[in-house]
Amino acid sequence: MTTDSTEAPPPTDKSQGVTQSKTPKTLKTPQVPKAPKSSNTPKKPKTPKKPKTPKVDIEIEIDAAEHHDALVRAEGGDEYKYDPKLTAEGCRKHDVRNMSGRFVCSPCKYKKQNTWGSGIVCTELFLSRNNTYRAVFNAQKCKKCDQYGKLELDVDKYVEKVMDTFALWRGLREPRVPDSHASTGPHDSSRCRGCEKGICTMGNINRRNSNSKYLSTFIRRSY
Ligand SMILES: [Zn+2]
Ligand SMILES: [Zn+2]
Repeated sequence: MTTDSTEAPPPTDKSQGVTQSKTPKTLKTPQVPKAPKSSNTPKKPKTPKKPKTPKVDIEIEIDAAEHHDALVRAEGGDEYKYDPKLTAEGCRKHDVRNMSGRFVCSPCKYKKQNTWGSGIVCTELFLSRNNTYRAVFNAQKCKKCDQYGKLELDVDKYVEKVMDTFALWRGLREPRVPDSHASTGPHDSSRCRGCEKGICTMGNINRRNSNSKYLSTFIRRSY
């Protein structure tokens, strides 16, 4: 009859479901293509596997070499040369200063990204008699996941403080009232690498006393 212009019998859900899901009975073939490793197939998987955890190399004690260029651009900065191997041995002077910056924990285990600012980035400064110098920043741990964050330094302030400190150490200026340069908290000592080492200006007395190795070398700072 002509009335059959309606294309098809009303589709029953069941029939559709059956026809669509052509689930082959041969479920035994695994979907993983790398299964046939017995036959030496030269084919490599096209997509190179990314490491599952994008591991960022977080340094706990960060050498300041990359900021030397900024220091050279400052007035008088070209008098100094960076020496990443400089140690306290034979130095004209070495001490701790607090730098400013922020730390980024990314990816953070409990958040996409966690950042926090700090005016107390514990930083060791070394200056030799030849005006070679070195600076080492001590990282801080993320409150959320307890991993160390990556430092994003306030470079301008860093340069200013380093130059100012070196001027003092070289006798080019008079010392100021100690508090003039001191940063106030908040500072979570339990998350600061400098505090852990017992050298941080904000570290508590007990910790410092328990770490006499550093105590003997980092004492009596004048600003
Ligand atoms: Zn984190
Ligand atoms: Zn500290």
